[in-house]
Amino acid sequence: MEPQQAWQVAYSQLQLQLDRASFDTWLRGASFIGVEDGIYVIGVRNPYARDMLQHRLYRNVRRVLMDVLGSPVELRFEVRQMEINGKKLPPREEMPLFKLLAEQPSSYNENEVVQPLYEQVARPQRAVLPESELNPRFTFERFVVNNSNRLTYEAARAVAENPARYYNPFLIYGGVGLGKTHLLQAIAHVCRAKGLRVLYIPSEAFTNDLVDSIRHKTTAMFRDRYRSVDVLLVDDVQFMAGKESTQEEFFHTFNALYTFNKQIILASDRPPRELVTLEDRLRSRFEGGLSVDVQPLEFESRVAILEMWARERELTLAPDVMNVIAQRAQNNVRELEGLFNQVVTKAHLEHRTLTVETVATDLERYERPRQHRREVTLPQVIEAVAAHFRLTVDDLTGKGRSTRINQARQVAMLIARELTDTPLTQIGDAFGGRSHTTVLHGCNKMTEEIDQDPTLRETLAQLKVALRGH
Ligand code: ADP
Ligand code: MG
Repeated sequence: MEPQQAWQVAYSQLQLQLDRASFDTWLRGASFIGVEDGIYVIGVRNPYARDMLQHRLYRNVRRVLMDVLGSPVELRFEVRQMEINGKKLPPREEMPLFKLLAEQPSSYNENEVVQPLYEQVARPQRAVLPESELNPRFTFERFVVNNSNRLTYEAARAVAENPARYYNPFLIYGGVGLGKTHLLQAIAHVCRAKGLRVLYIPSEAFTNDLVDSIRHKTTAMFRDRYRSVDVLLVDDVQFMAGKESTQEEFFHTFNALYTFNKQIILASDRPPRELVTLEDRLRSRFEGGLSVDVQPLEFESRVAILEMWARERELTLAPDVMNVIAQRAQNNVRELEGLFNQVVTKAHLEHRTLTVETVATDLERYERPRQHRREVTLPQVIEAVAAHFRLTVDDLTGKGRSTRINQARQVAMLIARELTDTPLTQIGDAFGGRSHTTVLHGCNKMTEEIDQDPTLRETLAQLKVALRGH
């Protein structure tokens, strides 16, 4: 078989074997140039594709070509102007920076001929990594693990123990305040302790750095800096959405690192498929590694975190007090942290002991903005809940203790607590003269139950929407 033909066959087989994003990014348009000293020379679109094929995909491509030829073969990839079906591909639309970068020799290939353009930008000096501050508190030891986040935690540990081995890129996504930054930095701590070059950077800082380097004509240094690390952690990548030049540069950084088997770790507050404005190819790369999510923590984990914080500050908190705080902060750990700090600081300033009552009162004040609690009244809550559970108002506020009545009553108490201004004692009064601790207990119990029971959680959410009117 003619070499040219053999390459054509191999090329079409690779199209079937590789995932589409990889094929499109690295191989599409790769053309046979010739055989030199028995080596197949293949032209590719840009230096990134060349590096990728030469390093990461080499064995793949070689095997396919060998199968076609039936004999051993070696390949070499060179950057050439591409043609598809006889048509020259238009040069890719690139920002000036990237044109410049594409023509500069890269730091990891120092033997390359120095191109004239190289002289026009500031000479790259030894890359100095900005010693990005890591929060010493964000360690694996201080990360409370529970059912809702165990897998994520374990995946993060695996990445930290064996960077670039298992999951690359590794993406952690999920809502605000659920521990993404904490996990990213925990990985960074472990890798740094191993002596690896680790760079942790929020994506806005990456963008700013890029803009600065363009302004000060230090793009070569910029490029060196980010490409000389063993582990790159970029936080809050959702902020890159819509910023094309940042994405473009990040994509190249990403490829350079990936090609040389360095670990890339990202955090985003949106799942990869929702990073809609990120370029497709960037997105498909995210999906090529492992994406794991962080979920809101269950009640017990929130309490466990409070216990840890109290221990660290050598405070003793009554279990009831921790329950009240944990019950209030349902959405995320940052909220939990805020409430904990406020309560503790206040108690400290006023030299008083923390009791359930004082804490509950303190928390009332910090509660959600007023407008969320506006017109909803206690009788409205009771009626709505009674109707929903097909009970009468008397059932709900009476002495009955059947499971269904009890559950409905706790739902009503929790909603009253969240949507109205009514103090606990008055809520207790409305429910047949129950004490405020009973109300508190009911609310706690319900909070735990909705953690476990999605149907109940849905019921609660619907009732709240119905009551608030939005
Ligand atoms: P995100 O980056 O997801 O917005 P952070 O990582 O900044 O959230 O977490 C917010 C706060 O909550 C931090 O103080 C962090 O230490 C703490 N935190 C979050 N999840 C946990 C957890 N599972 N165990 C202990 N602390 C946690
Ligand atoms: Mg964060």
